Amino acid sequence: MKSTAPVRTDIVLVGGGHAHVHVLTAFAMRPVAGVRLTLIARDLETPYSGMLPGLIAGLYTHDEVHIDLARLAAATGTRLIHAEAIGLDRANKRVLLEGRPPLAYDMVSLDVGITPALAAIEGAAEHGIAVKPIGSFLAKFDALLARCREPEGPRRIAVLGGGAGGVELLLSVRTRLLAEADARASEFSFALATAGDILESHSLRVRRIFRRVLAERGVELHERRAARAIKPGAVEFVSGAPLAAAAILVTTDAAPPPWFRDTGLALDPNGFVAVGPTLQVRNDPDVFAAGDCAALTETPREKAGVIAVRAGPPLAENLRRRANGQAPRAWHPQRRHLALISTGERYAVASRGLLALEGGFLWTLKDWIDRRWMRMYQDVDRMVARMTARPPVAVTDTAVEEMRCGGCAAKVGPGPLSRALARLSPVRAEGVVVGLDAPDDAAVIAPSAQHLVQTVDFFRAFIDDPYVFGAIAANHALNDVFAMGGTPRHALATAVVPPGAADKVEDTLFQLLAGARACLDREGVALVGGHSGEGELALGFAVTGEVAPDRILRKSGLKPGDALVLTRPLGTGILFAAAMRAKARAAWIEAALATMRQSNQEAAAILIAHGAHAMTDITGFGLVGHLGEMLAASGVDAAIDLEALPLYAGALALARAGIASTLLPENLSLAGLLRGETDATTRAILFDPQTSGGLLAGIPAERAEACVAALHAGAYAAAAVIGHVGRDGLSARDAGISLSGAVTA
Ligand SMILES: Cc1cc2nc3c(=O)[nH]c(=O)nc-3n(C[C@H](O)[C@H](O)[C@H](O)COP(=O)(O)OP(=O)(O)OC[C@H]3O[C@@H](n4cnc5c(N)ncnc54)[C@H](O)[C@@H]3O)c2cc1C
Repeated sequence: MKSTAPVRTDIVLVGGGHAHVHVLTAFAMRPVAGVRLTLIARDLETPYSGMLPGLIAGLYTHDEVHIDLARLAAATGTRLIHAEAIGLDRANKRVLLEGRPPLAYDMVSLDVGITPALAAIEGAAEHGIAVKPIGSFLAKFDALLARCREPEGPRRIAVLGGGAGGVELLLSVRTRLLAEADARASEFSFALATAGDILESHSLRVRRIFRRVLAERGVELHERRAARAIKPGAVEFVSGAPLAAAAILVTTDAAPPPWFRDTGLALDPNGFVAVGPTLQVRNDPDVFAAGDCAALTETPREKAGVIAVRAGPPLAENLRRRANGQAPRAWHPQRRHLALISTGERYAVASRGLLALEGGFLWTLKDWIDRRWMRMYQDVDRMVARMTARPPVAVTDTAVEEMRCGGCAAKVGPGPLSRALARLSPVRAEGVVVGLDAPDDAAVIAPSAQHLVQTVDFFRAFIDDPYVFGAIAANHALNDVFAMGGTPRHALATAVVPPGAADKVEDTLFQLLAGARACLDREGVALVGGHSGEGELALGFAVTGEVAPDRILRKSGLKPGDALVLTRPLGTGILFAAAMRAKARAAWIEAALATMRQSNQEAAAILIAHGAHAMTDITGFGLVGHLGEMLAASGVDAAIDLEALPLYAGALALARAGIASTLLPENLSLAGLLRGETDATTRAILFDPQTSGGLLAGIPAERAEACVAALHAGAYAAAAVIGHVGRDGLSARDAGISLSGAVTA
């Protein structure tokens, strides 16, 4: 679903909240030529507030209630940056990110929700369980459930805060705990305390219904009792006796993210971003905000998911209008909306103005509305089909659209290149006579006493985030040196970035090289020079390392009886083929990317320390392709235990669904190496091309167990003995692989 149009305007959405998910689909259905949409998301799965009480009560599954932002971004062609925003540098129009360089924007929109205002209640942060942000609350709730299952675990649960969220939460927690406790249900008791009346923004009739519902369920209700402090095991109020409770959930007032204070944006008296009717921040027309984090100064509304949802269409429209140079339009949110508040079971109360109705049918209605809304962002196949049906967008920006030249004229211009390099800290390393700190025609390196190890790697981006791609491309490039038993020292980069306006090219190049530098600096490798060009985002490195002449590890050293140790899971080719088709779960991609960025340096050292006879890194030809090279060079055969193969989460399920890398058919030309029959799924795993794959080594059998234990004690939890080397003295043609067992997840 990617647009190939050159980028003219960067719209950056911060936070995958309820309004932003709509913006993603709206721009995918009606793209604006030259506009690149980027989503910065701290959490890759965003929960839908309307169904949250149902999840807590056990009426919904995790997947039913969450939008997978990785799949949504892939389906809508949105660039996804998995990172936490920590500020805005408005002078330079950049979003500041935790642990990585800032990201440039032309227009930015904030939909980051709220944090709990715990500071108002002494001890709340230490002894209370904050319900916001919801994402981290769900993990805390699972931990609470686990504690409640213990014989001596909490039995008395209190919720502080009597808004719709607090009331629904208490009733849902009660339903879940009593269902789990079964015979021990009578041991549990529940209390709700709130500073004013419950459900203050609803009618008296709604309040009466919920007072009755709470009483019928034996919930103690403490109204007009403002909490002063939370101590271990009790809530203390401004006046009156404390309330004993073993677990205290806090849904009281909301606070804006603290970093809003330093942005210089107009804020309301409570610190929320002050937006006008166009959803633009009062003092900066290039900054928009929606959802709980925004204060609609002319039409104040309560902080509710329904308002955030309704802000989605006007926000998308106004971002589009401003990108097209048109004036944004005013949005007048409804003053009243129908609220369907559940009682923690399949029963709900409808509230709108003076209207108050209750019944099971209202829960059915709520369930239908909520599921229908979620389908718009979860059913990526439908989304992709609708987008494929729409006519392509014409590119009209002549400034970046004119015919691009080839040859040396296809280089990145000197301005963006020098500015991108200037934003990186200079590299000074031992032995570098001329490097990037004083760029010249070529790098000059003083000779080393050791042998040189030289290798080159290059590939197209498989993810949209240039920083993370840069880090993985660099990590991948170093593996060949580690596999030879060497230490990488210097690298030259070849970077290809999409053409576009000079500032866009500069920022992409900067992000790409900053990611690469993060990896190279960690490994003590000096980036000494490189070459840049225009085209599809791609990056590669020529790496030079050193190795002691008597420490070179070749593919040809395998000995009969050696244990074959693999340090990393398999499956990156399958996973990223699925990600491109919006079929990979965010959690799978997140876990794989984390491992792919991990250094292989320590793994190589451990394998060598345990007597590795031969070593290679698993890359494009897949496990069998690279093992086959070792077997042919060593004149041996091998047996693989399929059950022992470490796999990335999701890889097997996707392989079974027939998803594979486009390189797989080519790799399968080596299938003759396998002895005996294999099914398509097994072959897809064994020949899956790996990016930043693991090391494969032949280790003396008697040391294999200690070797794997050392790898596990390091950062290589998936390392495993995957088979053994068999007979030797074979010709390259006879060096095959026999298989046993079956691949398991
Ligand atoms: C128990 C409970 C039940 C509720 N039930 C309802 C209900 O039935 N109906 C209703 O209308 N409202 C309900 N609400 C209120 C509702 O949850 C919020 O109003 C709604 O979630 C606000 O949506 P939002 O888009 O503003 O933010 P959120 O839904 O909070 O989304 C914010 C997103 O931004 C991301 N993010 C946050 N900070 C950063 C950062 N620094 N960088 C990058 N990303 C970031 C988060 O990961 C998250 O994905 C309930 C609240 C609670 C606590």
